[in-house]
Amino acid sequence: MKTYKVFVDNEWKNGRTGEFIPSYNPCNQEIWAQIPLLSKEEISETVEVAHDAFRTWKETNGLERARLLNRLADLIEENVEHLARIESSDNGKVLSETRNQVLFTARNYRYFAGYADKLMGNLIPLDNQELLDYTTLEPIGVVAIITAWNSPLPLLANKLAPALATGNTVVIKPSEYASASTLEFAHLIEEAGFPRGVVNVVTGNGATGDALVRHRLVGKVSFTGGTNTARVISKAVSDNLIPISLELGGKSPNIIFEDADLEKAVVGAIAGIFGAAGQTCIAGSRLLVQRSVLEVVKDELVAITNSIKLGDPFEESTQMGPVANKNQFDKILSMINEAKQEGAELLCGGSALENDNLKGYFIKPTIFYTEDPKITIACEEIFGPVLTILPFDHVDHAIELANDSIYGLAAGIWTRDLQKAHKTAKQLEVGNVWVNTYRTSQVGTPFGGMKQSGFGRERSWHTLHEYTQTKNVMINLSDDKRNPFMMQI
Ligand code: NDP
Repeated sequence: MKTYKVFVDNEWKNGRTGEFIPSYNPCNQEIWAQIPLLSKEEISETVEVAHDAFRTWKETNGLERARLLNRLADLIEENVEHLARIESSDNGKVLSETRNQVLFTARNYRYFAGYADKLMGNLIPLDNQELLDYTTLEPIGVVAIITAWNSPLPLLANKLAPALATGNTVVIKPSEYASASTLEFAHLIEEAGFPRGVVNVVTGNGATGDALVRHRLVGKVSFTGGTNTARVISKAVSDNLIPISLELGGKSPNIIFEDADLEKAVVGAIAGIFGAAGQTCIAGSRLLVQRSVLEVVKDELVAITNSIKLGDPFEESTQMGPVANKNQFDKILSMINEAKQEGAELLCGGSALENDNLKGYFIKPTIFYTEDPKITIACEEIFGPVLTILPFDHVDHAIELANDSIYGLAAGIWTRDLQKAHKTAKQLEVGNVWVNTYRTSQVGTPFGGMKQSGFGRERSWHTLHEYTQTKNVMINLSDDKRNPFMMQI
């Protein structure tokens, strides 16, 4: 079993409490590592370290920040296999997925490296020609980064890359269920040569995160996790009146119109819900299918779903691993049982996998059909391999069902009709719409939610404004004497 230390001020430290949180491998339920549970005092000291480092880091020129971020991306690419294996050990995702995700994080750091020396303000033309006016983009200070367990490294990159590129320092608190990959990643921060205190990783539980986000020297919180935790954090930071970005959950509609290429649409539906065992915020967990093609879509989906190979995430032939932890396992099974009691029709799956060779948290990929969009399984996020199919009759009906949700993270549209695709995309109350694809990620596109899926955007140039604040500078060029009792315009 591996015992981790935390990374603070470019040093590897033991936690002073002497307490640890075990990391379970969800594939076999064995403890494979332990991570330190830090005290509130240690969190406070770490924020102070990051705050001191900010004074010099914010003055570093963009070229140097770009060089360090590109070096970091090189190191990630050299360590893809190692990082992917750690990530899969912690959250049970299949290795092909975590490898791809680690490569994607390297791309993310390179993308923002490209912006580090191009953070331009504006020269603003004014009515009064005797005034010269310009803006600058300035870093905020210490950013507290809180991530979820489902994809620790990609979620971190979405926040860390723009935060560093724009000159902020950070304190990262990964989830207690999957902290190891972030601690391993910190070795690459060290090797890349980032100055002391610029990037710090602390570990612990929800209370540790609470101590971090409340600290008076934290200038911004960037959070990925559940909607309920987001409410708690929003209240916690309100005393300090600091900006916060929230990347939260969803109940994303994936809409199949009758004129779609049904073969592709069905594969897209599978990718949307059974990729990563449904443990993605963008899971297309509500499949809306036009009634005229309902039976053919159902049959095809069930046939493919029954053939999905569950197994050890490290075996290349495995298509779906276990769910990430015992809490998730119990919660998903309980929601499956609730769906049965509420009268949803079970089309396949619907239970834990019983296999003497697989002792982990395996749940069979599950599909329900219901005509009632109000039952729990059709409304609440499950964060697991459970799909709910709902029928619709026409375009407006599909849009009404899609928008009838507290969430607004993502949606899919499957159609060959370009006009229908554009009109539907416009009316969907979500931050991300895919047409004839699903769960396709690119670093250049803005990602984030509407409604209770959060606010703020990640990836893409839009994110630069999440980690900077605008300063306006106005210079008087005239020799005129002013009347001090009258506002000048
Ligand atoms: P949680 O909200 O339970 O936890 C998220 C993070 O918050 C963890 O690091 C957790 O620490 C920490 N935390 C818990 N309580 C507090 C607190 N009071 N103050 C500060 N930090 C706290 O979410 P999960 O980890 O269970 O992740 C699943 C959720 O994340 C789903 O709803 C999913 O949709 C969403 N998600 C959203 C994404 C997006 O980009 N929109 C991407 C991925 C996931 P600890 O675990 O140690 O308790």
